[in-house]
Amino acid sequence: MSEGKEAKIIVIAGLPGVGKSTVLSIARKRLENEGIKVEVVNFGDYMLRYLMDKGLVKDRDEIRKLPLRIQQEAQAAAGRMIRVYFNERASRCEREFIGFVDTHVLIKTPTGFWPGLPLHVISELRPASILLVEASPEQIVARQLRDKTRFRKDYADVKLVKELMDLMRVYAISAATLVGASVNFIVNEEGRPDVAADHVVSIVRNL
Ligand code: AMP
Ligand code: MG
Repeated sequence: MSEGKEAKIIVIAGLPGVGKSTVLSIARKRLENEGIKVEVVNFGDYMLRYLMDKGLVKDRDEIRKLPLRIQQEAQAAAGRMIRVYFNERASRCEREFIGFVDTHVLIKTPTGFWPGLPLHVISELRPASILLVEASPEQIVARQLRDKTRFRKDYADVKLVKELMDLMRVYAISAATLVGASVNFIVNEEGRPDVAADHVVSIVRNL
């Protein structure tokens, strides 16, 4: 077992409802079949735990409405905790290890658009690549409306979704440039998450 191994990290982002989780779960199975150990963490889970411990929120859709200063504090904490966790997992792993971080490159807050991967976060994560999962705005809105477990009315409008998708490319590229990560746009077409997953697998193979 090698101590102090740096985990190879990939950031995966996309609008809520774009199908990140579906694509990742298929990609993960394929990579594990090739002998690569894959772990996925959700950035929002880390922020949520941090904020719930302080009694500041009860659910994840409250996070983006908190005062920005508090979101920033939770965001920084999440970045640090994820890097520590993945390095520890990689150190214990005999096989090649890839840690995926499911997150957002852009958050729509009451104070304006806010980067999900500012310098203090991206420099902790130091991802090899940032994957932006994309689908048609109409499909994304339909999926969000179908998801009764989440409150996402603030994202459920085709025109807004289009605007956000354009902005997300800009934010993904900006974050990647800070640490020299590659950027990939992964198309998750309706009914074909396997095609998107293949794209993810081929990127990981070439890292
Ligand atoms: P999710 O379930 O992936 O939509 O994440 C839940 C919430 O966590 C999001 O709505 C955001 O408020 C917050 N969040 C997730 N990733 C980030 C990030 N990188 N920076 C800031 N907030 C984030
Ligand atoms: Mg998801």
